[in-house]
Amino acid sequence: MASRPTTIIDLARLSLSHGEGARLDLPVRVDPLELGGQTYAPRDRELQTRLDLSRPSSGYAFRLRFPLRVEGPCVRCLDHAGVEVEVDAREVDQADTEDEELRSPYVVDDELDLGRWARDAAILALPDQILCREDCAGLCPVCGESLNDADPAAHEHESPTDPRWSKLRELKLE
Ligand SMILES: [Zn+2]
Ligand SMILES: [Zn+2]
Repeated sequence: MASRPTTIIDLARLSLSHGEGARLDLPVRVDPLELGGQTYAPRDRELQTRLDLSRPSSGYAFRLRFPLRVEGPCVRCLDHAGVEVEVDAREVDQADTEDEELRSPYVVDDELDLGRWARDAAILALPDQILCREDCAGLCPVCGESLNDADPAAHEHESPTDPRWSKLRELKLE
């Protein structure tokens, strides 16, 4: 497999002065995302990201936006599911501060790791559980058939707690 280029932004090369800003539209390639033990592949090979940078008093402020569409299995019925979200994430990175809150984990030595940030932001923006539809009925716990298309009347199993079975058990014990 060919190695993927990481999307690293050299902030120093943008040479923004304080009070200045810039907007970059950049394609970012991401690997399939792992969510709740399932794998979800972005529908597009590359995310079309928009990065806004500004330099307030010191350091940088970033805003990253991109539409995201992923496809994978529904966590309840394993049928095909797709989700679309608008990712909108922000980061600040203040120079010369010991305050962890004001440092961005994606900025190291004046370089912004856009690829890693985009990936993390994508995972955060997606719902915890991806479903084929909001009211997905899931799989029957007894036979494993999808209950979404099953006729509820036709789909019944004898339950072990059925009163008739209890009667039988009582008889056997006597
Ligand atoms: Zn489902
Ligand atoms: Zn069943």
